[in-house]
Amino acid sequence: METKIPYKIYLEENEIPQAWYNVRADMKNKPAPLLNPGTLEPMTLDELKGVFCEELCRQELDNDTAYFPIPEEIQNFYKMYRPAPLVRAYFLEKALGTPAKIYYKFEGNNTSGSHKLNSAIAQAYYAKKQGLKGVTTETGAGQWGTALSMACSYFGLDCQVFMVKCSYEQKPFRREVMRTYGANVTPSPSMKTEVGKKILAEYPDTTGSLGCAISEAVEAAVTQPGYRYVLGSVLNQVLLHQSIIGLEAKAALDKYGIKPDIIIGCAGGGSNLGGLIAPFMGEKLRGEADYRIIAVEPASCPSLTRGKYAYDFCDTGAICPLAKMYTLGSQFIPSANHAGGLRYHGMSSILSQLYDDGLMEARSVEQTAVFEAAQLFARVEGTLPAPESSHAIRAAIDEALKCKETGEEKTILFGLTGTGYFDLKAYEQFNDKTMIDVIPTDEQIAASLAKLPKADK
Ligand SMILES: *Cc1c(COP(=O)(O)O)cnc(C)c1O
Repeated sequence: METKIPYKIYLEENEIPQAWYNVRADMKNKPAPLLNPGTLEPMTLDELKGVFCEELCRQELDNDTAYFPIPEEIQNFYKMYRPAPLVRAYFLEKALGTPAKIYYKFEGNNTSGSHKLNSAIAQAYYAKKQGLKGVTTETGAGQWGTALSMACSYFGLDCQVFMVKCSYEQKPFRREVMRTYGANVTPSPSMKTEVGKKILAEYPDTTGSLGCAISEAVEAAVTQPGYRYVLGSVLNQVLLHQSIIGLEAKAALDKYGIKPDIIIGCAGGGSNLGGLIAPFMGEKLRGEADYRIIAVEPASCPSLTRGKYAYDFCDTGAICPLAKMYTLGSQFIPSANHAGGLRYHGMSSILSQLYDDGLMEARSVEQTAVFEAAQLFARVEGTLPAPESSHAIRAAIDEALKCKETGEEKTILFGLTGTGYFDLKAYEQFNDKTMIDVIPTDEQIAASLAKLPKADK
């Protein structure tokens, strides 16, 4: 008799993973190193540690250590909101009439409302341990800024957040959550930094972008003693911390002997997807198991599906190191898409390499289709999903509907990265049927890619 799978699979406290998994250790083709934009040589620890906390630089550069023990203080913080439940989407399966079995890992069960807290607490911990006064960062939709504010207040660190201007205006309540946790929030581009002034002079009407806010936050970090910059996605270290998502999900599935056929995640800078797939990709890389892995990105900002695999700046102001990644060009400013957390021009170097090696797939989806999926999900599974997460829901539903056609009983796992309580402007447009899909033209993408730095050797 088949074991009945509970609606929610929780891990016991003693089953929570105690080490992060570094998928780079099992990659044959390692992700390309960050390059110094001046010399085009790989960034050294010494160069990186002027910008980032030292321990995080070590994690960034380490392509070989498979497991990093999670410090006890971070494990203790994780206990406030972890383990995150793994949910069997029985209600969604029934609504779709699919023979597929759908599971989702829900990361929205904390005040910041997303998975970003998993890395925020780690980054704040290492900053505190190094004796720093504070950290600076950017935030797009606001989830990262909120998560970092929570983590900084826990460790008594100052937190300065540059928030993409259109989100700052669309989501004033996000700002108040950050301020409640003691953070200082500035709409970006701003007149507070030289790079902000320069961007405003060139594009006075810009609604901002993540790449632009990153430039400002980096400048703010390197010009204030006792400050470092922290980043909520894209970097190897962030994917390392986010591996907790995949490790917990895998432990929960293993308890019931469940093996997913398809693993789906939304992809902005790649941290939740990189974290969710990490242990599964490890098995795939070691030849122990096979999984179909699908990255889902917005049609308005399609870095994997329409970008180029090349060295590019991580930021609009071109002051950060160069990363080799699938990119639309650091000058690409996406339309004011509502999935703010997915409006990044590039993609994690780890995921870019895995994608280039054919180890995972990618697809893009349009925002109205995403909100149709979000609405169905909210109505049948109860949780109001974040627009970002709803990209993964869309793809999971599409795969489940394919199973309905073919009669295949595939097992689908997707990452439900967060909740959408601060995205109600977007839901309002969807409900009012005024939401539109904006897709960049080939010419727009080509124009942006023409400005890539010449760094490929
Ligand atoms: C930031 C964010 C994302 C996208 O970021 P990744 O680094 O690609 O994971 C997805 N979902 C939510 C809820 C977010 O806040």
